[in-house]
Amino acid sequence: MEKTAEVVIIGGGVIGVSIAYHLAMKKAGQIVLFEKGQLGEGSTSRCVGGIRTQFSTEINIRFSLESLKTFERFEEEFGVNPEFKRIGYLFLATTESEMEVFKENVSLQKKFNIPVELLNPDEIRVRWPYLRMHDILGGTFCPWDGYAGPSEVLSGFATGARRAGVKIYEGVEVTSISLTKGRVKGIKTKDDEIAAPVIINAAGPYAASVGEIVGVKIPVKPLRRQIFITAPFHLTDRPIPLTIDFNRGWYFRQEVDGLLISGPLDTEPSFNLNIDYGAMAEASENAMYRVPILEKARIARGWAGLYEISPDHHAILGKVPEVDGFILANGFSGHGFQHSPAVGKVIAELILDGKANTIDISSLSIERFGKGDLILEPMTAFKE
Ligand SMILES: Cc1cc2nc3c(=O)[nH]c(=O)nc-3n(C[C@H](O)[C@H](O)[C@H](O)COP(=O)(O)OP(=O)(O)OC[C@H]3O[C@@H](n4cnc5c(N)ncnc54)[C@H](O)[C@@H]3O)c2cc1C
Repeated sequence: MEKTAEVVIIGGGVIGVSIAYHLAMKKAGQIVLFEKGQLGEGSTSRCVGGIRTQFSTEINIRFSLESLKTFERFEEEFGVNPEFKRIGYLFLATTESEMEVFKENVSLQKKFNIPVELLNPDEIRVRWPYLRMHDILGGTFCPWDGYAGPSEVLSGFATGARRAGVKIYEGVEVTSISLTKGRVKGIKTKDDEIAAPVIINAAGPYAASVGEIVGVKIPVKPLRRQIFITAPFHLTDRPIPLTIDFNRGWYFRQEVDGLLISGPLDTEPSFNLNIDYGAMAEASENAMYRVPILEKARIARGWAGLYEISPDHHAILGKVPEVDGFILANGFSGHGFQHSPAVGKVIAELILDGKANTIDISSLSIERFGKGDLILEPMTAFKE
């Protein structure tokens, strides 16, 4: 193993490999990435791949638009088809306050020239006749949105990074970070150590534990989300958008011949990755409520994964004041997959150019929590 590196990345999920790739493309020197298990085995492999421009804050919209550019030309750049399916996202409102928020969101999104539509119940009924409509007050739809394959995207970044000289070690946990005079000096694993002036925390739901080893408190909590897949089920011949019943926090979309339906998001942090019967029942009830014909569907399988939740549901990016050279790429709160291209790019810029030029990430600094500068959303946004 190398004795020194310019940059060490802790975590081989989609964020870590995207950062590695972007650093390598900017000729950052020797980059070494450590993954304690297998690449992608954390949240990335459990993600449902949603990609949307329909966010309610400017900063998230900027990350989406920048990332979209990469998803659109992914195959050209990486030689891997990302399976990007632009079926659109349909948000459904059932309360007046949600409708107000949807209207605000649409006017914000339109400022960015996003072709989002504000729909009334009749327009929704005509386009998606399988939906139960009695309580729907309206919705929004954007055809730019959709989903892609997390393992395809991860493999594109990882292959590109390796090709550009990044060393990726799987099955190797970073156990400590050494410091000298308030700045990082290197990392240790069970058997080795590497000196490096820059160390990136890309540990997903484990971000807080990696912070602890260097004495930095990172407010990221793991929250379990369960997902279920039905046996093959034919709902319609037309494309099914990723449809979100906002109030119920429930969504569904096509998944090969079946449907993917969301189960509940836990309220208490844990690293529990089991699925349970209660969650399956809740997911099925929500499905039958909104799409009555789904009473004929059968759940075939399911899985659980961990969101990496920050206090304001926005990413925590950049330097930490206490430790020079320690960089955070954490707290994506359920949208790290879709923002991974832009995150890789801005973190590479921050390290090599001293500033993220593509998107101003100063509002995402960890210091916002101490200063009370949390990023406010009009309503707790629905998270994939
Ligand atoms: C059910 C579910 C659905 C989701 N749906 C979407 C969606 O539709 N759209 C979207 O954009 N996002 C979605 N997400 C969120 C998305 O999966 C995450 O934001 C994204 O995968 C985060 O990537 P990451 O690389 O930061 O974390 P991870 O993929 O978790 O990678 C972190 C890695 O760090 C490793 N690690 C931790 N500590 C160490 C250490 N000390 N040494 C070495 N390695 C270490 C871990 O093993 C892990 O592999 C979803 C998440 C879940 C759970």
